Amino acid sequence: MRRPVIHATVTVASYGDLGVSSDGTVYAQATRVLVRDLRVCDSAQAPVVSTGSEGGDCSLSVLRNWELSIDVDRVLRAQGADPEVVRARQSAALGIAEQAISLGLGLLEPVVSSATFVVAEFRHQQLSLVGGGHLAGPLVAEHFRAAKSVVVALCTIGPALEAAVAGCFAEDPAMSVALDAVGSAAVDLLATAVCQQVDEQAEADGLRTTIPLSPGLVGWPLANGQRQLFALLDAGSVGVRLTESSLMMPQKSTSLAIGIGPDVEHAGEACDYCSMAATCRYRQDHIAHGA
Ligand code: SF4
Repeated sequence: MRRPVIHATVTVASYGDLGVSSDGTVYAQATRVLVRDLRVCDSAQAPVVSTGSEGGDCSLSVLRNWELSIDVDRVLRAQGADPEVVRARQSAALGIAEQAISLGLGLLEPVVSSATFVVAEFRHQQLSLVGGGHLAGPLVAEHFRAAKSVVVALCTIGPALEAAVAGCFAEDPAMSVALDAVGSAAVDLLATAVCQQVDEQAEADGLRTTIPLSPGLVGWPLANGQRQLFALLDAGSVGVRLTESSLMMPQKSTSLAIGIGPDVEHAGEACDYCSMAATCRYRQDHIAHGA
């Protein structure tokens, strides 16, 4: 039987009785802890599940070691190309995309910071969360008004692939563009996998989920939405930061929120609220807004 290895960073929020152990050490029994980063790994480094909790109101997670299966068609669509046309023309883009996938897979460092919050109340287009945060905006109000809890997540593939994209641009711009597309496909697959996990857990609990919403969609302005989500997540634990213009660094990152409850509606899809929907060739590939 494999023995799990657990790493945790905790802050004691409150404690009970003080005591003295047999070796003279003074101890206190923690009655409430905030788990910042708890990782449970098996000895074979199989898929890592990380989870934590804060007093029952919020659960925090850092999830690593995702397996992302990226195919050539996705990479071509992420470059704005039509795979059928590329094949019909026997374009060199096909081989470049295949090479980019081989190179890019070794550069991916997919990781997700995620947290679940209980909803305190919904008023004036604002969802107030137990613990003090909030999500607000017309799009949030439209989809999350009936939510009893929300999952917020920050997905990134890390900085290595972006560095390679920049590094090869001068010598091999076609490879640089294809590699960038591998990154876009990867972060989108990662966000999709997160959404599927949330949906499956909700279904197992007999609950429903909304569509995933990301800052920047019509009705949830980028700066407001990013500020709201980053206030709820430990972005530093996954190496993501916001620029002054509310862009995420590394750029191949996605932030999102999903409402959960018995009466929420899974209405439409995120692309319905995207200003690029009319021309986006990548739309068929994802359910969450990608980088
Ligand atoms: S239409 Fe959909 S896939 Fe395309 S950019 Fe918008 S959200 Fe992303």
